[in-house]
Amino acid sequence: MTHRATGFLDTFLGVLRQKNLHRDLRTIQGPQGPWVEVDGRRVLNLCSNNYLGLASHPQLAEAAATAARTWACGSGASRLVCGNMALHELLERRLADFKRTEAALLYSSGYAANLGIISALVGRGDFVFSDAFNHASIIDGCRLSQAEVIPFPHNDMAALEERLLDGSRSSPRARRLIAVDGVFSMDGDLAPLPQLAELAERYEAMLMVDEAHATGVLGPEGRGVVAHFGLEGNVPIIMGTLSKALGGFGAFAAGSLQLREYLVNTSRSFIFSTALPPPVVASALAALDLLQADPGLPGRLQEKARLFRARLGEMGYDTMSSATQIIPVLVGKIDMALEMSHRLLEEGVLTVAIRPPTVPQGTSRLRVTVTATHSQEDLDFALEAFRKVGRRVGLI
Ligand SMILES: *Cc1c(COP(=O)(O)O)cnc(C)c1O
Repeated sequence: MTHRATGFLDTFLGVLRQKNLHRDLRTIQGPQGPWVEVDGRRVLNLCSNNYLGLASHPQLAEAAATAARTWACGSGASRLVCGNMALHELLERRLADFKRTEAALLYSSGYAANLGIISALVGRGDFVFSDAFNHASIIDGCRLSQAEVIPFPHNDMAALEERLLDGSRSSPRARRLIAVDGVFSMDGDLAPLPQLAELAERYEAMLMVDEAHATGVLGPEGRGVVAHFGLEGNVPIIMGTLSKALGGFGAFAAGSLQLREYLVNTSRSFIFSTALPPPVVASALAALDLLQADPGLPGRLQEKARLFRARLGEMGYDTMSSATQIIPVLVGKIDMALEMSHRLLEEGVLTVAIRPPTVPQGTSRLRVTVTATHSQEDLDFALEAFRKVGRRVGLI
C-alpha cells in the first residue's frame, strides 16, 4: 500500500539499489556455527562474531534453560524499578573481576551501552575526541551527548595530541573524553592504548575503550585489549559486550564503584530500559566459566588467525593492518567487493562485502572472521575459494 506521505521510501530505495548500496537480509536456516545453512546449502561461515563458538555451546544452552525455569524468562522491569535480580549482580561481580575493575554495570546491548555511557559522561560544553574509525554506536553516543565531537584520523596520536592541545578546549569546567574501539570492528587492528592512556593522563581527559571485539579473545584469559597491553587500572571506562566472543547478548561498563553509581543515576539507556532476561544473564555466566576453564583458548584463536592472514598475504591479498581474528580483505570498489562475495558464496564460503558508509570510499572490503571452531580443513577450504575467486575477478 502506498501513502502519499511515504512515497519517499520507494524513491530512496530505488536510488540505493542503483548505487549498489542496498542492504539485504540473509536468512540462516539452522543453528549458528562454523558452517551454516543458507538457501538450503551448507556454507562455511566466515563472518560471525561468535569468535569462540560459545553461541551454540551446550553448557550455555543448559544454563539458559535452567535459568528460564528457575528465575523467569523475562525480568519484568528496569533495574531501578523491580528488575534488579541477584543474578544481574552476580554477573556484574564476575565481569568486574574478569576486567580487574572495582565494578561493572550491565546494559541491554553494546549499542545501548555506548549511547548511555557517553551521553552520561559528557554533555553540552564538553568535548569528545573520537577516532575516525570508531563503531557507529560510539558515534551515535557522541551525537546524543550534545558534546562537541572532535574526530581525529584513525590511530593518529600526533593528530590527537594537537587537538587536545588546542587551548579553546581546555576550559577548566569542560569535561574531556577520548573514546576508541580497542579492536576496530572493520579493520581488526588495535588502538595504541599505551599512548592513548598517556595522552589522557597528560591532558586530563577521560579514556573510554570499547572492548566489543577484544573481550574473550585478547589478553591473558581473554580479559581484553586493556589487559593485553598491561594497562589494567589505567583505563577508567571500559565497555565490553556479551554478544560476540561470549556468545550471548548484552553488554557492560566496567570501572570504579563511583562510575557504576554515577551511571545508575544518570545513564538513560540503563535507567529507561528493561533489565536483561535471566536466561541471557545465566548464559553469560556459563560463558565466563568456560573461558576461565580454558585460558589457552584466546591464544589458539589468535594463532589460527595469524596463519590465515599470512596465507592470504602470500596469495597476494591486502589484509590491511589486521592484527586479530578480524581480517579485512581489501577490494576497493563497491561492485567488485559485491561480486567477490557472491562468487565466494557460490564456492560455499559466506563473507560479507563491507561498503561505504560503514568504511571509507575506495576501501570496500570483505570482512573475514576466523573463529576457534573453524578446523584447519575449514580454513584450507576457504583459502582455496579465495584463490579461485580472486584470480577470476583479477584481484590477485
Ligand atoms: C558490535 C559492536 C557494538 C554493539 O554491540 P551489540 O551488543 O551488538 O549491540 C559496539 N561496539 C563495537 C565496536 C561493536 O563492534
